[in-house]
Amino acid sequence: MVFSSLTKVFASFVVLFVVFVVSFGETTSAQGKKVYISVDMEGISGIVGDDQTGAGGAEYGRSRKLMAEDANAAIRGAFEGGATEVVVNDSHGSQRNLMPEDLDPRARLISHSFKRHGMVEGLDETFDAVIFIGYHAKADSPRGLFAHTGSGVVKDVQVNGRSAGEGGLNTLMAQWYGVPVVMISGDDVAVEQQKEWTPAVKGVAVKRAINMRAVEGKPLAEARKEIQAAAREGVAAARKPARERLASYKVRMQLRNFTIPEVATAFREVQLVAPDTVEFTRESMPEAYRIIRVLYRFINPD
Ligand SMILES: [Zn+2]
Repeated sequence: MVFSSLTKVFASFVVLFVVFVVSFGETTSAQGKKVYISVDMEGISGIVGDDQTGAGGAEYGRSRKLMAEDANAAIRGAFEGGATEVVVNDSHGSQRNLMPEDLDPRARLISHSFKRHGMVEGLDETFDAVIFIGYHAKADSPRGLFAHTGSGVVKDVQVNGRSAGEGGLNTLMAQWYGVPVVMISGDDVAVEQQKEWTPAVKGVAVKRAINMRAVEGKPLAEARKEIQAAAREGVAAARKPARERLASYKVRMQLRNFTIPEVATAFREVQLVAPDTVEFTRESMPEAYRIIRVLYRFINPD
């Protein structure tokens, strides 16, 4: 009787121990990384002409596939580097370029351009790493395929006096949430410009910009292999830094026309400081980002 009770007690301990080990194991795997991938189109391997980047362009169908191939290379790398969750944000134009049937089935996809946070919609503190795929140089870069910031109407955007392209603005958002930008692919100018913001970022130049129109492209298979390796290494090494939040975000935006700045003064916070330039200050980067996006994308007086 006593022996049997002891056996029962012992058996209970064994059960408890097994439960502990199993739940500990689950906790460990639940600590896998959550990775955010923002995918633009101009800096995708194999893309060189503007008939490739807009819906209705003769080569657009091919480009959507090329875009998915670079995205998939990054997704594969992210999972190899320890990701257990990957969210892809379509970040180009209509933001409906990537087709879910072309994407690695493990990734979730955010689509459509009606987003307050555009290229970084859905990014928040819960992510462990950010990857930029298919990025391009900022507006008015002397070299850089399809160099622009947000849209063709923008000449320059400065945040607290520092000129920022799309990579720079999206980096400020990642810093706000305390998520490191671990990797970028695009042309060599986009990669160089990103290194000014995040010197430790792994850069994959899938093409060398000869000028705004001509490039020398890496063989596709090689480019994708490099993207996969950089994503793997970047995610594996990702450590979350403290959130970098500035006291305020003063934005100066110079446009290529006078109509958008004039219309923008409808918002009390937006000051017209020159016929083509507006300024405003917000306390948080997400707020500043939302206004920048409204100014270049949603105001269209014509
Ligand atoms: Zn872009």
